[in-house]
Amino acid sequence: MKNVILIAAPAAGKGTEALKLKEQFHMPHISTGDLLRNVRNTDSKFAKVIADYQDRGELVPFEIVLDLLKERILQPDCDNGYILDGFPRDLKQAKAYDEILNEINRDLGYVIVLDIDKEIAKARISGRYTCPKCGKIYNINNIEMKPEKDGLCDICDVELTHRSDDDPEVYEQRYQSYLTNTEPIVDYYNAKGAVYHVNAGISVEETHRQVVEILGE
Ligand code: AMP
Repeated sequence: MKNVILIAAPAAGKGTEALKLKEQFHMPHISTGDLLRNVRNTDSKFAKVIADYQDRGELVPFEIVLDLLKERILQPDCDNGYILDGFPRDLKQAKAYDEILNEINRDLGYVIVLDIDKEIAKARISGRYTCPKCGKIYNINNIEMKPEKDGLCDICDVELTHRSDDDPEVYEQRYQSYLTNTEPIVDYYNAKGAVYHVNAGISVEETHRQVVEILGE
């Protein structure tokens, strides 16, 4: 399977779609947000820097993200393709990623943009909860995504957590960062003929159906 890059505004459903693709196609899901959250919860010298940037909704410095990403995609489970969620986030990262692909002799693959209205995405953040153990994403305001038992993961039975940056004010900053930094990479990848658009404002299932249709082409 070719690699997949998911690009979307914050809370558009990248993580949810990535987990569905992972389940169906058995490809690793690489979320740079998760890789960074893992490091911020350790005693790494980068933990505080990462926490500061994430809590402000700003992009974490390039070198930290790139090293984590590189280390992850060089793991053997990525040899047959992987799903990138949250990377690249700006043109500098996209260009650095091209160089990495060249070095490891891999194709860019599919760049899938999940299109959604800002207000629909923003409304999702108040209900969004994640399982700290398996990463499954829930939304208590969405019948399709509610946990079976209030506050507990259906799979692990552990207490769900709410992300500190899923807050309306931080959302505004994250959305601005998306417009300024991330949207320009859609044009960059368009020029390479790699971009596909999906309407992500309808439902989880409909988003997934459209993505699978693209991958099946
Ligand atoms: P996400 O989980 O993708 O919504 O990302 C949450 C936060 O992690 C972002 O607001 C950034 O602070 C940081 N982050 C995630 N991915 C990247 C990236 N590729 N480059 C820089 N910062 C990132």
